[in-house]
Parts: sequence; C-alpha cells; structure tokens
Amino acid sequence: MVKLALQIKCILDNVSSFGPCDAEGFGWCLSVKCPQCGEEHKNDIFVSKSEVHDIIGSRGTANFVMSCSFCKKASSIDILQIGDVYDASNSESFKTIMVAEFRGVEPVKFTPEGEWQCSAVNSNKKFSIADGAEMGADGWYDYDDEGACEVSITEFTHKFIKLK
Ligand SMILES: [Zn+2]
Repeated sequence: MVKLALQIKCILDNVSSFGPCDAEGFGWCLSVKCPQCGEEHKNDIFVSKSEVHDIIGSRGTANFVMSCSFCKKASSIDILQIGDVYDASNSESFKTIMVAEFRGVEPVKFTPEGEWQCSAVNSNKKFSIADGAEMGADGWYDYDDEGACEVSITEFTHKFIKLK
C-alpha cells in the first residue's frame, strides 16, 4: 500500500481561500492505473470520503474498490485526510489538500471536477465554482461587485507526493 498526498498549486487573485463545497462528500476525480500490469483504467474514478464499500474477499471496507479490467487484481482506496482550504498565502506554491492510501492501484492524474467554493479578499462575498474541471483547464474568473474587483483562480496544477 502506498500513502500519497495530493498537492495543488494555483494563482489566487483577490480570492482569500477555496476548496470543495462539501469536503466529506466530494468526489475526487482520478485517472488510475494498475501497478501490476500497467493497464490504465479507461474511465476516471470518483473517490469520496463519505462512501463505504466492502473490499472483495476481505472483511474490510474502503472508500473505493475496483478490480483491474485486464489482470483482475483487486484494489482499494481510502481517504485518510482532507486538508485545509487552499488560501492566499499558498498562492503559487504546492499545498496538500487530500491524503489517501492506495492499495493495488496508482493515481496518474487528478481532475478538479465537481463543485468548489471560494471567498473574496475585498468583501464577504462567497462564490460557487460549479464546474471545477473548467477551472482546472482554463481557469475560473468572476467579478466581485461588493469589492469592485475581478476574482480569479488560474494556472491550476497538481502532483502526488509519496508519504511514509
Ligand atoms: Zn492489472
């Protein structure tokens, strides 16, 4: 089993913090591959801390279970920790937003699909980002009419870091 931290980096403009709308129920969208045969899973998977599934052939449970469509190896993922929101002091640096344990499966990519929310720097306004995938691909832009400024989240990147 491998414990990995998902770290993100982006540029926040007039945004004080942002994170998933519902951290517990958030579906973390991952592209994964099988470390045994190297086969990449065709469809992205969604792992959620609020979901509990029985592990095939064991009494345990995990937040996500699957088996490789090629070599049939069973695998599971557990979310161990959901980090604090990404805030203005983190802008342009990597910060861990989620830690998970991967058994028999390896993440290759994270897509910030799903609903996110953020707070403005110059007002008490909160924004909801309905399409996180678009934010990840093209950036997210809006206008804070109370603070009279543009707000944006751009240059979204991520990486996985191996933890001991
Ligand atoms: Zn396989």
